[in-house]
Amino acid sequence: MKATDIAHLLQQEPSLTEVTTRGWVRAFRSNRFIALNDGSTINNIQCVVNFENFDEDVLKDITVGAAIEVKGTLVESQGQGQKVEIQVSAVEVLGKADPEEVKLTILSPKRHSLEKLREQAHLRVRTNTFGAIMRVRSKLSFAIHEYFQKNGFNYMHTPIITGSDAEGAGEMFKVTNLDIKNTPLHEDGTVNYKEDFFEKETNLTVSGQLEAETFAMGLGKVYTFGPTFRAENSNTSRHLAEFWMIEPEVAFNDLADNMDLAEDFIKYVLNYALEHCADDLEFLENRLLQEEKSKPQAERSEMALRDKLKFVLENNFKRVSYTEAIDILKRSKPNQKKKFKYLIEEWGADLQSEHERFLVEKHFKCPVILFDYPAKIKAFYMRLNDDGKTVRAMDVLFPGIGEIVGGSQREERYDVLKEKMAAMDISEEELHWYLDLRKFGTCVHSGFGLGFERLVLFATGMGNIRDVIPYPRTPGNASF
Ligand code: ATP
Ligand code: MN
Repeated sequence: MKATDIAHLLQQEPSLTEVTTRGWVRAFRSNRFIALNDGSTINNIQCVVNFENFDEDVLKDITVGAAIEVKGTLVESQGQGQKVEIQVSAVEVLGKADPEEVKLTILSPKRHSLEKLREQAHLRVRTNTFGAIMRVRSKLSFAIHEYFQKNGFNYMHTPIITGSDAEGAGEMFKVTNLDIKNTPLHEDGTVNYKEDFFEKETNLTVSGQLEAETFAMGLGKVYTFGPTFRAENSNTSRHLAEFWMIEPEVAFNDLADNMDLAEDFIKYVLNYALEHCADDLEFLENRLLQEEKSKPQAERSEMALRDKLKFVLENNFKRVSYTEAIDILKRSKPNQKKKFKYLIEEWGADLQSEHERFLVEKHFKCPVILFDYPAKIKAFYMRLNDDGKTVRAMDVLFPGIGEIVGGSQREERYDVLKEKMAAMDISEEELHWYLDLRKFGTCVHSGFGLGFERLVLFATGMGNIRDVIPYPRTPGNASF
């Protein structure tokens, strides 16, 4: 007989037909009640065994962590919280779990810290918390594709190994198969990349934007959703060395259209999570409440997790120019009282996470889109405004996270782009193909990058980006 997922069984009505299911034992009480979980839902199904009818040898192997298969009928549950349970007629232990070792780990009285679990992949995936996060992550991925596909975007795969290093100077991981103990050198001592696999210097991509722009210039609306790599040594709870990024790029969209797209897109996928991950979000909401109990009142969230998500759906993101933001920050209490680590002295300052979070969490108390940043602190490809000193950049800032999206209207004017590249010392030779776009039917176009893990952080209420990705890569850590 085919086995049925526990998620499906829990939705069925009691019935006399026999069912089969498989999973891992979460608890076995009184030699009678097995709590079984198979990862299809955060909920366990209760399996009731009449121990008189079973071999003692089998019962003794039903321990926490063991993989088992049970057959039985779905009967009305006596317990609370679920409609049905399995009255077991047969049970088979598929994979034993050493009770002593399990005791030291899963059952350890002091709940395993999230840090410790990151080193124990096999246990991590069995915890309610991580299971819930990964199911939400999966649903969000699907929602992202659904949103773009429904709206006429083409999914494109940008290269992971890239030959252009225009953007990420200093932050890129090198790709080479030269023998590092015996690198071929030029006479002046520099590495001779002609001898390398690609016969030139190559890196892991920091963004697929420039390549996506090329495709938008023929396919109109495109998006990428792939891994990106940054060798930035930022040991924060918001940065990974390997993370997933979603980058839509749209021909004929200006900055206002770009903001509309970002807002509509984020709302769509968060709404999808609310509708499709109800049990997991409820669990994560309670987890967060528990965790925050140990914090001082002032540091606790004002809203429960799902209320926070609904709040984002129901309210417009506040659109504020960089110049307005600087005025607000200059006049703000933490600036006046010198509480910011980086004080805002004048127009032109780069905004730090503390400033972004002040604007979102204390001042506007809603998601904020900052736009029209000083050209000096933004990338070369952003469109120059008529004032000659600001560019059509936008960052979407979220409570608890800071920057979640960075984007812009792109500079579509050949001469202006060429000038800016020269001023910022960006090699024309390297980016001739990018400049060419501006020579053959150039047009206004815009796009943005959303860091997927930052979105998952927000949706799950977790505090550290390392806990929302299966195998985090950070400075000094690439286990598994
Ligand atoms: P930050 O200032 O937070 O480092 P950034 O300005 O470097 O971000 P962009 O280059 O604009 O970010 O990248 C687009 C998006 O990718 C960001 O808005 C963020 O959501 C995400 N992102 C950037 N760097 C990382 C990272 N190291 N780990 C995870 N997500 C990241
Ligand atoms: Mn960065």
